[in-house]
Amino acid sequence: MTLSKSLYTRAIQCPKSLWLKKYKPEELSPPDASAKARFETGNVVGDLACELFPNGREIPFDAHDFKSMARLTKTYFDEGVENIYEATFIYEGIVVMVDILRQTPLGLELYEVKSSTDVKPIYLHDISIQLYVLEALGFRVGACHVVHINSSYVREEALELEKLFVVVDVTDEVRDLQGSIPAKLEAFEAYLDDKFHEPNIDIGKQCNDPYECDAKAYCWKVQRNIPEYSIFNIFNLGSKKQQELYAKNIVAIEDIPEDFAMTPLQWQKVENWKKQHTFIDHAAIAEFLETLTYPIYHLDFETFQQAVPEWNGVSPYKQIPFQYSLHVEHRDGTLEHKAFLAETGSDPRRTLAEKLVEDIPLHVNILAYNMSFEKGVIASLAQLFPDLHVRLMHLHDTIKDLMLPFQKGHYVTPVMQGSYSIKYVLPALVPEMELAYKKLDGIQNGGDAMNAFASLYGKSLEEQMKVREQLLKYCELDTLAMVKVLGKLRKVCE
Ligand code: SF4
Repeated sequence: MTLSKSLYTRAIQCPKSLWLKKYKPEELSPPDASAKARFETGNVVGDLACELFPNGREIPFDAHDFKSMARLTKTYFDEGVENIYEATFIYEGIVVMVDILRQTPLGLELYEVKSSTDVKPIYLHDISIQLYVLEALGFRVGACHVVHINSSYVREEALELEKLFVVVDVTDEVRDLQGSIPAKLEAFEAYLDDKFHEPNIDIGKQCNDPYECDAKAYCWKVQRNIPEYSIFNIFNLGSKKQQELYAKNIVAIEDIPEDFAMTPLQWQKVENWKKQHTFIDHAAIAEFLETLTYPIYHLDFETFQQAVPEWNGVSPYKQIPFQYSLHVEHRDGTLEHKAFLAETGSDPRRTLAEKLVEDIPLHVNILAYNMSFEKGVIASLAQLFPDLHVRLMHLHDTIKDLMLPFQKGHYVTPVMQGSYSIKYVLPALVPEMELAYKKLDGIQNGGDAMNAFASLYGKSLEEQMKVREQLLKYCELDTLAMVKVLGKLRKVCE
């Protein structure tokens, strides 16, 4: 058996996923832009963490020759190199690369670097297989650690690596897992030995835990025919009720028995779907509309995050606004559009905050969809810039939420599939907007926008201009969509 530590942790999540990776990789979904961005972040964080253990030697990665990597590791080891990055070891076909390996008089220390902000249980399995291999090869390991990002770190002037990273000793937890490894390896080997029989493992909680499995489209849609909107949208995956229905072969909502015990909210979702019924509480919507006065400022931010903060006052993974779109809707129906898009490569927060207070006067109605996000961004800016605090907090306090009528169930259609997120509300109320998004070139959602802006730096001027144009068009559509949704609410109350 040939097994890397990533295949080992894949198999820990689900042995079928390991088998598919080996024998039917074409059934796995390729990583999307967000997954690629996370991978890139992992590389940056990994390189930086090595600076906590300086003057080490790195083993260059060679996907076709792990043996050479292991040989070079041995050479450095024998030379007494204190810190070895990507130290590679092979034992009975199991290949592990230790992010950072330290030689100390008390034995080896293993450091696994993660770009997350805590220690997840799957990391312990990841390190446990490293410890297993090293000890099987006769090395004395003194300690195992996870190095992860400290989310409460706030950058001040120079980056302080000792504060940016948290080093957690997980030796005991990893040792506790050692006894179970041989049986696990034996089980995984049995699956892999049977090349012609796909493991008969049913879908379940493991499909999303700890990661969304890249075989979901295959296992759920192709093999099990799970509809787009199913019992899994009503009942939590792995919950008692979900399992009870699934055990009876019920996955479609229309097949849920009338007498099945449900909460009132679950019952309403099921009934709406079964009857393909649209529910509109006209009085409640009219009441919401009465709270709005013209002109209405429809506001939407785009943000990105940095695992490693580049600017003062930024914490890891904190939302950094770089763009907004503003549609100003007047009583006579005329629309004005204003937009801000930060320059590339510099801290966008001050210029964005100044432009925002310039673009939105005092005492006007501001609408956002899911306002907690916009409020959070504005509150952070207010905290950062004391001279703008009063103006920004005034904006913060006057924002109203266009999501409210949907969140409170005043307008529910089957197309919303039990959700009040704009992703479902918009196609339900303004189907033509969905097409407008699909027609956008390059950037079609917030994740695309975030990745596009974060990767602008380093692109050619021509490429930057193209992406900036795409960003502006995308964000403008977001606030135009809000105008349309509000228009639809007004229409049903006429
Ligand atoms: S989708 Fe679920 S059942 Fe299929 S391989 Fe992944 S975890 Fe296993």
